[in-house]
Amino acid sequence: MRFDLLTLYALAIGTLLLSLGMTLWERRAHPCRSPELGCWAAAYGLLAAGCSLAIARTALPGWIGWAASNLVITSGYMLILIGVGRLEQRRHARLCLGLLLATGIAWILFGPAHRDAMWSHGSAVPIAIVCGATAWEIARADTLRPYRVVPVIVLVSGVHALFYLVRATLLPLLALRFGDGIMPAFAQLTMYEGVLYSVSMPMALLALIREEAQLEMTRVAHTDHLTGLANRHDFFARGAALLAGTAGPVALLAFDLDHFKAINDLHGHAAGDRVLRSFARIARATLPGEAVLARLGGEEFAALLPGVDREHARALGEMLAQRFGASREHDEAGLVRATVSIGVAARLHEQDRLDEMLAAADQALYRAKAAGRNRVELARPLLRPASLGRLHA
Ligand code: GH3
Ligand code: MG
Ligand code: MG
Repeated sequence: MRFDLLTLYALAIGTLLLSLGMTLWERRAHPCRSPELGCWAAAYGLLAAGCSLAIARTALPGWIGWAASNLVITSGYMLILIGVGRLEQRRHARLCLGLLLATGIAWILFGPAHRDAMWSHGSAVPIAIVCGATAWEIARADTLRPYRVVPVIVLVSGVHALFYLVRATLLPLLALRFGDGIMPAFAQLTMYEGVLYSVSMPMALLALIREEAQLEMTRVAHTDHLTGLANRHDFFARGAALLAGTAGPVALLAFDLDHFKAINDLHGHAAGDRVLRSFARIARATLPGEAVLARLGGEEFAALLPGVDREHARALGEMLAQRFGASREHDEAGLVRATVSIGVAARLHEQDRLDEMLAAADQALYRAKAAGRNRVELARPLLRPASLGRLHA
């Protein structure tokens, strides 16, 4: 299969300009990623300009057109690397400037006498380094690990780096062995891969930014803004999954802060918010890490504890009530007295549903309120036909 080199250049320029436009468009929807998207849009512009210079390089005197095209294209790849580095607050501007300077000096030294060798092999060195560094940056970025598109970006940039590495190292040896006849064929192959890169890399980088925004929206939708705990929706979603996937005992604790309206009325809404945050922090520190802990609304919280039976749950509830009652973190002056009442329900039958357990824990909670607050009460077991299998007595 043979391609006309000029057509491939024209295709690459077209796709790069389209990518530039799409990236600028997307930039408006993601203000917090505006610098990265701006960097990549400028990169596609430089790559398109470099390809245009490559087409017109013979119109310029001596080796100037060749060198200018190579330097502009290399700068484009560098902007992609700089944008990728920014995703994790890593700076590459100095490395890029140094490499660009070295490439410029190499062109001045060897361009006049070895223009074609510089174009076919030497110019590939900085591109291989920069694209390899881009693949490496993405692969090692801890915060990017959850995104599904990351392996695609590593692959696209890595394969591109490999093509240019072969062009810089293996191709001169192959040319010695098989003659210069292989050069046009390899140039066309490189350009064909370049067209694929100019489509897939911008698409993958846009997908990364969209995936990041989508994950953030999902996180916000599942989180209570004030306390950072799971919200009601997430409690029921994760709780039901936990109940279905846990074979042993499971306990549910329902919490309601005592006289919370009075705290608001006496000390202000901001003081009330501090109490809510402090309760969330103490609950997180007291309950086991696998617990699904959520703010159900207002001053009401719930926790679902896998592998915890009634007595263990009661002990945990008492420890939490004691720590919260003694805590001064929401009020250093000691004026705000905050306590919590807790109802505990344990799963007795495999059929017990989350809403049933919460209702049972709520009834126990009302008894804790009626008995004077700042205490833990156990729920009465849910009534089931005797034939249904019991998990524990
Ligand atoms: P009890 O001991 O019987 O539970 O009494 P209580 O005052 O805690 O219960 P009540 O339901 O009467 O009051 C709950 C209060 O919680 C009323 C509401 O203004 C307040 N509240 C709900 N959400 C928030 C919030 O996000 N921040 C603050 N500061 N207050 C809130
Ligand atoms: Mg309440
Ligand atoms: Mg209350």
